[in-house]
Amino acid sequence: MRKSINVKRLLLTASFILIIAFIGLCIWMQGQYVVPIMMYHRVSLADESPMNTVSPKNFTKQMDFLRRNGYQVITVDDLIQGTKARKRFPHKTVVITFDDGYEDNYKNAFPVLKEHHFSAAIFLISDYLGVNPNLLTWDQVKEMSQNGITFGSHTRHHVYLPEESEEQLKDEIQGSKRVIEERLGEPVHYFAYPSGGFSEHIKSLVAMAGYRAAFSTNRGYDRYNIDLYELSRIRINNWDSPFVLWNKLSGYYNLFRKLRPSH
Ligand SMILES: [Zn+2]
Repeated sequence: MRKSINVKRLLLTASFILIIAFIGLCIWMQGQYVVPIMMYHRVSLADESPMNTVSPKNFTKQMDFLRRNGYQVITVDDLIQGTKARKRFPHKTVVITFDDGYEDNYKNAFPVLKEHHFSAAIFLISDYLGVNPNLLTWDQVKEMSQNGITFGSHTRHHVYLPEESEEQLKDEIQGSKRVIEERLGEPVHYFAYPSGGFSEHIKSLVAMAGYRAAFSTNRGYDRYNIDLYELSRIRINNWDSPFVLWNKLSGYYNLFRKLRPSH
């Protein structure tokens, strides 16, 4: 009799400890959640750079995945304002971004984004627009900017910033902002480092140029995206299965993946 009471008590205590540990883990996980910032480049069948290309069919599937599973796509403005205000974003909040400003973003991604009522940000190489036929035209940029797309800078010439001189750094960072603002007639608040390359000094130049935030790739060691000038993003690949996508967009991907040095 006594033995069975002891076993019962032991089981009760163990369950109690497990429940407390589980609640603790849930609370801890809640605090680790980071809004996933999706990073795309090309949406095209062109396969010269498969790492950076998602086919139109798979892009549509990925956007369908977001809609079907109740993800909330917020704007970069919402992300930055919320982060500054230390807002706790609900799970399944995501941000969509594109680097380089390829014309296929207009042809193949923009119609899908519109159909899904999703916003996105595109980072432009300011001095290549109107010169490189694979990139967006300024007319396309204007049209997209009036329809839910935010435009940011990705320098003037897509240079690897850590290797540039002080003078060139200023020209690439400030100059691209000025060019895009003049063309768009709107302020440009966001910047993306080409190839994710940055340093503390480069971050300070970006801040001094008046940008509100800057995006990296998976470079930098701020897993929580607290530093607005080194926001790490998650590369979305053509071959990502729904399970991989779910994992990448869990909000805990940064916690476990290997982040790379900033340059
Ligand atoms: Zn780029």
